[in-house]
Amino acid sequence: MFFHSTRDLNNKKTVNQAILQGLSEEGGLFVPEYFPQINWQELDKNLSYPQFAAKILAEYFQGDELAPQLSDICHNAFNFPLPIEKLNDTTYVMELFQGPTLSFKDFGARFLAECMSRLSKERKTTIIVATSGDTGSAVASAFHAKPNVNVVVMFPQGQISQRQEQQITCWGDNILAVAVKGTFDDCQKIVKQSFNESWWTDHAHLSSANSINIARLLPQLTYYAYTSWQFYLQHGTKAGYIIPTGNVGNSTAAFWAKAMGFPIREIVLATNANRVISDYIRNGKFEPKASVATIANAMDVGNPSNFERLAFLHHNDWQQFTHNVQAFSVNDDQIRQIIKEVKDSFNYVVCPHTATGYFARKELSADQPWIIAATAAPSKFETIIEPIIGEVLPIAPQLEVLLAKPTHKVETNASMQEVQTAFANNIK
Ligand SMILES: *Cc1c(COP(=O)(O)O)cnc(C)c1O
Repeated sequence: MFFHSTRDLNNKKTVNQAILQGLSEEGGLFVPEYFPQINWQELDKNLSYPQFAAKILAEYFQGDELAPQLSDICHNAFNFPLPIEKLNDTTYVMELFQGPTLSFKDFGARFLAECMSRLSKERKTTIIVATSGDTGSAVASAFHAKPNVNVVVMFPQGQISQRQEQQITCWGDNILAVAVKGTFDDCQKIVKQSFNESWWTDHAHLSSANSINIARLLPQLTYYAYTSWQFYLQHGTKAGYIIPTGNVGNSTAAFWAKAMGFPIREIVLATNANRVISDYIRNGKFEPKASVATIANAMDVGNPSNFERLAFLHHNDWQQFTHNVQAFSVNDDQIRQIIKEVKDSFNYVVCPHTATGYFARKELSADQPWIIAATAAPSKFETIIEPIIGEVLPIAPQLEVLLAKPTHKVETNASMQEVQTAFANNIK
């Protein structure tokens, strides 16, 4: 199996090359040449989630040096629960936030870290990552103290919650936390610039941990595949999925699971007030914008980096895209109302991101089953949620451990040069 670039079908890599490189040479994103068709009706019903994941990912790793280690990679990476909660007969919540940093990003980051440290035995790799919140903590946690890898995590100064910042800056050792005076998009731009800069690529052996990295997307398709299969076994019908969306990584993974033949009826994207995708669906124009700050801040993305993959999957054809992809944009007032409503109706607390998904669910068919991807734990966003529900949220035990640790960060302007200097001064 090869992976080729969205911009050059002749630029082919094996999975480990695509992982180490992150972005393809001409700036495209790696996608699989084809989607293996899994006969899920015949899978052993007793497979554990890591066993299932290793089985359905096997073909993507075929012929690659990581292939014999895939089972270990999945067992180490997916070492936490994946519960589905029922709100009512046609509304379910898939809790993707039971990992060490309490968001779905743990799935991708932990899988990537397992792959990357196995691939960097010959020479050290540097990971550079921009985060609007949860990626940074997941990547820092997953890579902390892993041999052969250093990590630079950039986040927009003052634009993420205090608890999010704590979870990025509490690591030290091989993890450098950089607070950039700018927006998430500025951080993302520095990542892209670094990949064009020989100091980073040749000296620091740069690689990416953003959701452009194929080793983030492949593990994410496994929870859609697994839960759709389990749902079908239990209910004899296909579930639709609603996915709170920012950079379109998580939702692209869902479309890939569907492309592999898993019983997914349809897929709906929910965004916050950043509505580039909804606008594209409406008028056929993809127009990146500056990001708007919202209370669902991990989705504050004005130029979603995985859009290119989702468009490619639909042959870069607007009509095909709109035929398969629905999107709802949800504003902050609506998010607050939903948090209250879900608590009052079901005694269940959703984070502001997951709330966009529940908003979309109310707009959709009442009689067909929907699974909402719950992307983060509410206790990460207590300053927003507690005043709305009028209750103090219990803190997850994983979070308590991280909140007790001392922190360290470097502050820079939105300048690649300054980030480079910070790296040279702080990481050996
Ligand atoms: C990252 C993130 C999202 C958006 O996911 P994408 O893959 O970027 O679309 C949504 N919710 C939470 C909590 C996140 O951390």
